[in-house]
Amino acid sequence: MSTKLTTEALYCAPIDKIPQKGVDPHIAYQTVKDETYPQTQPRLNLATFVTTYMDEYATKLMSEAVNINYIDETEYPRVAVMCARCINIVANMWNTPEKSEWKAGALGIGSSEACMLGGVAALLRWKAKRKKEGKSCDKPNLVTSTAFQVVWEKFCQLWDVEMRTVPISLDKPTLCPEEAVKMCDENTICVVPVVGVTWTGLNDDVEALDKELDKFNTKTGYDIPIHVDAASGGFILPFIKPDWKWDFRLKWVWSISTSGHKYGLVYPGLGWVVWKDKKYLPEQMAFSVNYLGANITQVGLNFSRPAAQILGQYYNFIRYGFEGYKEVQSASMEIAKYCHEKIGKMKCFSNYSKSVDNPLFIWYMNSEYDKTAKWTLYDLQAVLQQSGWMVPAYTMPKSMEDLVVMRVVVRQGMTRDMADMLLGDIENAVNEFDKLKYPTTSRIAYEKREKQFGKVFTH
Ligand SMILES: *Cc1c(COP(=O)(O)O)cnc(C)c1O
Repeated sequence: MSTKLTTEALYCAPIDKIPQKGVDPHIAYQTVKDETYPQTQPRLNLATFVTTYMDEYATKLMSEAVNINYIDETEYPRVAVMCARCINIVANMWNTPEKSEWKAGALGIGSSEACMLGGVAALLRWKAKRKKEGKSCDKPNLVTSTAFQVVWEKFCQLWDVEMRTVPISLDKPTLCPEEAVKMCDENTICVVPVVGVTWTGLNDDVEALDKELDKFNTKTGYDIPIHVDAASGGFILPFIKPDWKWDFRLKWVWSISTSGHKYGLVYPGLGWVVWKDKKYLPEQMAFSVNYLGANITQVGLNFSRPAAQILGQYYNFIRYGFEGYKEVQSASMEIAKYCHEKIGKMKCFSNYSKSVDNPLFIWYMNSEYDKTAKWTLYDLQAVLQQSGWMVPAYTMPKSMEDLVVMRVVVRQGMTRDMADMLLGDIENAVNEFDKLKYPTTSRIAYEKREKQFGKVFTH
């Protein structure tokens, strides 16, 4: 035993070469395990949108499926069927008009893959139409706001699409429909509004955009569609705001994507994309397979991928039902609104917006307080971190990059007690900051408007 312990203690984790000899499994296990202790308690991590809690049965189900490759359909034909059922459920949740038994959609590793597929479909449709009309296809563009998630920058760079962005500001905190349509022309493959904007938590007004675009398309004869990036909102709005129109009820919304691993309440990685109808899904992207009499369309950038998340999503649909999801999302909304109200009342802060559209919100130091403050939100982030909280401070995107904000994302499991603890910790920190005689390092850098006075979080 003692020699074993010594071996363990002296064992060094390999850094650049595969070790010559192996070690006992318990040593290998401990070596890897020690490196993966969470730096922050997942429940106190208010930076991430991604699921950190699933119940015991879900966890068991997913662990048992850890060796299932989704692509092995001949071995696990029911997984493909289950996936298609999830797509159906998501499509109906978003009010698809599609009548066929299996709706047009795909799964992805996350919203990133799902957005990418939605973008590629829009690009291919536009190209096909332009070719048919004998027009050039070399200058496609996409219109979104400056508060885009990084995946849209990736999409545009990888597929050589020009990105046109409408600036957001404190006066126009979401995508301005009129400005967006002004940026459209014959080369626009789609407009991308976001419900649950990563930077702000707000929803772009998809209905107003749809109206503006309809006028423009009618006038010009174009048919520029909308892809809604609903990474967060896709699993919030159907339960919290079912009457608000943002989905397939709108004329020009042809595709929507979401993250199953955000408010879909599944462990990572899982995303969904759905098209309004099969006709909006270019044939080059789809291949059809026949399993158990079901004709299922498959689309994706990946081939092999874990199946466990599909099981997790389907389990959640059965386990929670519509009412269960509504209850979980409503609780998160209530907690978010509670924190939003309390923080808005603190003398040093202003909320970015009056409304809380999704269970997350941002705030900033108000200009009056900012004049004499000796600290920044980065200092607050660091102090909160000492009590275990992860509450990110970051600068806003391009059009308003001078503004430093702080964000809280409320997920399943955040209780009212935890909210009170957080608010208490924030108040205590501010009281201490108020006693400062000299500015902090971060404040000095901020006042010089130095580019890098803090770490920028964008996820
Ligand atoms: C999180 C997010 C993404 C990327 O989603 P992943 O699931 O992390 O790949 C895309 N768009 C928005 C608006 C997001 O919030």
